[in-house]
Amino acid sequence: MLNIRIEKTTAPKAKPADESKLGFGQIFTDHMALIDWNLEKGWYDPRIVPFANFSMHPACTCLHYGSEIFEGLKAYRTADGKIQLFRPQENARRMLNSSERLCLPQLSEEDFMQILTELVKIEADWVPHSEGTSLYLRPFLIGSDETLGVHAVHNAIFCIICSPVGSYYKEGINPVGIMIEDADVRAVRGGTGYAKCGGNYAASNRAGEKAEQKGYSQVLWLDGVERKYIEEVGAMNVMFKINGEVVTPALTGSILPGVTRKSCIELLKSKGMPVSERLLSLEELERAMDEGTLEEAWGCGTAAVVSPIGKLAYKDKVFIVNHGEIGPVTQMLYDTLTGIQWGKLDDPFGWIVPVC
Ligand SMILES: *Cc1c(COP(=O)(O)O)cnc(C)c1O
Repeated sequence: MLNIRIEKTTAPKAKPADESKLGFGQIFTDHMALIDWNLEKGWYDPRIVPFANFSMHPACTCLHYGSEIFEGLKAYRTADGKIQLFRPQENARRMLNSSERLCLPQLSEEDFMQILTELVKIEADWVPHSEGTSLYLRPFLIGSDETLGVHAVHNAIFCIICSPVGSYYKEGINPVGIMIEDADVRAVRGGTGYAKCGGNYAASNRAGEKAEQKGYSQVLWLDGVERKYIEEVGAMNVMFKINGEVVTPALTGSILPGVTRKSCIELLKSKGMPVSERLLSLEELERAMDEGTLEEAWGCGTAAVVSPIGKLAYKDKVFIVNHGEIGPVTQMLYDTLTGIQWGKLDDPFGWIVPVC
């Protein structure tokens, strides 16, 4: 059990007046959670304090060598005003795996859950009320040695910040255009693809920018060895419905194990729909497009829940998926997951963690 010190702000900020203009990650709440770590002392001084800038030594490890990992999850307000989380233990466990990969200290699932729920209780009034809005929670962990030496860190800082975010689909769910990227890769087997680390994002921005310039929302990533197998879409996991079966790339080490991905798989299986986690080659996908057996395609992740893919471009070929419309399986996944998250539907899976 952490003995969390709590220091409340004396200057609370005004809550956003217009929840239709929240956007993503623009506004931050009154408090943040912090825990320091040192090789000798272990985790120490867990605290929830007024939101403030960091002061850091310019040689701080995370600024030079990318020792940074993060998580992302949401707190949802139900119709009767209660606040709840969706599978937060999955984020705690994934952060343990990310820490292990980057030689950062590991915060136990219990401690992660304790400080996260304590912070959400304190910031409960910041969870917005409008349809589709939520409080985005961003736990992160940075190496903080004050030296340019290269090694596993001796000092680290765990922090959670919170941001009220708007509805992802304010204008309704519009399928997006995706460009298949065969030059840059996001991650490689043996690298950090399965860890949620900032470095993966830094390395994927160039391809994302290129796709945007060509009028596409994001890229479809291929594997780093042969550029042969499908991996992810942008910063989301990807699923295809081919000839009645949902296919999603197997977790081979270069793919981020998404909580939304896992939930979609479990939900589809519970409904008796065929799902397969396996290697999916670009060749197989192209064949499915040519033969008309690619029925639906979508990305999945916490921010959007599901993001239907309406158009796939590879070299000079453009394929339209399901007439550019959201398909029935994609829609079912969206309705069921968001229904459970906002407490409109029963939760037969035990995914919801009530906070207050
Ligand atoms: C966070 C993330 C996802 C989605 O994970 P969720 O737990 O479902 O939000 C997928 N791919 C990448 C690269 C990610 O960083």
